[in-house]
Amino acid sequence: MVKRKYDAIVIGGGPGGSAASTFLAKKGYSILLLEKERFPRFHVGESLIPGALELLWELGVDEEVERAGFIHKPGGNLATRLGEYVKFDLTLIADQLRRPYSYEVLRSTFDQILLNHSRAHGVEVQEECRVEEVLMVDGRAVGVAYRSARGREGRVHAPMIIDASGRDTVLARRLRMKRKDPVLNKVSAFAHFTGVRRDPGPAEGNLIIAMFPHGWFWIIPLAGEATSIGVVVDVSYAKAFPGGMASLFADAIRQCPFVADRMRAATQVTKLYVTSDLAYQSKRFAGDGFILVGDAGLFIDPIYSAGVYLALKTGKLAAELIDHAFKAGDFSAATFRPYGETILREAEVIYQQVCGWYRFMNNEKRVERLVPLMVRFTSIRRNFTMLFSGMYDQIDPDRVAFAQMLKDPLYRGGQTCGQEAVATR
Ligand SMILES: Cc1cc2nc3c(=O)[nH]c(=O)nc-3n(C[C@H](O)[C@H](O)[C@H](O)COP(=O)(O)OP(=O)(O)OC[C@H]3O[C@@H](n4cnc5c(N)ncnc54)[C@H](O)[C@@H]3O)c2cc1C
Repeated sequence: MVKRKYDAIVIGGGPGGSAASTFLAKKGYSILLLEKERFPRFHVGESLIPGALELLWELGVDEEVERAGFIHKPGGNLATRLGEYVKFDLTLIADQLRRPYSYEVLRSTFDQILLNHSRAHGVEVQEECRVEEVLMVDGRAVGVAYRSARGREGRVHAPMIIDASGRDTVLARRLRMKRKDPVLNKVSAFAHFTGVRRDPGPAEGNLIIAMFPHGWFWIIPLAGEATSIGVVVDVSYAKAFPGGMASLFADAIRQCPFVADRMRAATQVTKLYVTSDLAYQSKRFAGDGFILVGDAGLFIDPIYSAGVYLALKTGKLAAELIDHAFKAGDFSAATFRPYGETILREAEVIYQQVCGWYRFMNNEKRVERLVPLMVRFTSIRRNFTMLFSGMYDQIDPDRVAFAQMLKDPLYRGGQTCGQEAVATR
């Protein structure tokens, strides 16, 4: 019998792909990872929530990430449309964290550290090697066809195919499983800038969310001079806007005095990237011989900065289920059912919070009531901090005045919103 060369093939070397491969390699499996780009490569998604740090620790790469010198993120500031300026502060939940901060990372460097870490654990990584097709036999994934940047083509087989191709969603497209979200229909434009004014001292690393009448901005300070700035608006607003995304971006800055003030001396140092169809989900997260990890399976919204955390977490979960499948000798969809159920449970919580957030923040009266409470009560800021840290299940709606936000009929509208979307997904 010919010895099998690979136990699993991973499509994509972002945080999801590298996490899944490292966790599997640590268990002794032989992994081939194919990545279409040459790293380091630009990627959006620079603000990490504390949950991600826990997974970096489990991967055994946390010290290396710390040594890379990324800016520490002690929390964040929210500038509402009414101009208030309130803080979420990770020291308020330090008792629940491994470190009382998170990171703002240059993704090109961060993703490369994680991919090199996979290599160090024995994962065979081939960069500039695009998966052109997932090979299927009777509905079961059996391998991939690839093409290298130099035009070399090949086919390779394995019992498990892990799709971690991010927004390219290789398998969800191929199997027509991808569903756009009908509610969170948004588009984003973003770039890196130098010369953006920062808060002094350790507050320099705070994530800033700034609301304006048609959406919101992120300002993410990176190590050195660069700052990532992006705007998120409804697709309907972008379509009706007279001019392209570059003029929409410039106009949005003018409409948001808080951002305009920070950017007075700013210079754009990357091109302006545009990403549309922000929210989507695959109908299934696994099938016979395949599993979807990270953005390849779903993306909800960037507001809570949960993407990298979810990619690492689904990478870990996928590795656990695949290990189980090898031990049982069963790579059928049924083996992976708990995987999809776990993802949907967490995704639903996030989805409701995201819908609630938009409904709440778009209502000036509610914001006007909440902000003074947030400034006054630590307990409210603590809950707000948990919301921006990925601790969605731990927010206590009954204990503190933050309940006023969660109990608000408008805010709770997010639940209806989530259910509608689930029904149509
Ligand atoms: C506007 C915006 C803002 C965001 N902000 C944040 C944030 O602040 N914090 C946060 O945590 N997350 C954020 N995210 C989300 C975050 O970027 C993603 O969730 C995260 O990168 C997902 O990791 P991944 O490994 O699943 O996919 P990716 O990081 O996208 O990696 C996928 C990899 O697969 C490769 N690939 C694709 N197709 C193929 C193929 N056919 N063959 C081989 N390789 C292939 C790609 O080159 C890529 O390297 C944001 C997202 C958007 C859109």
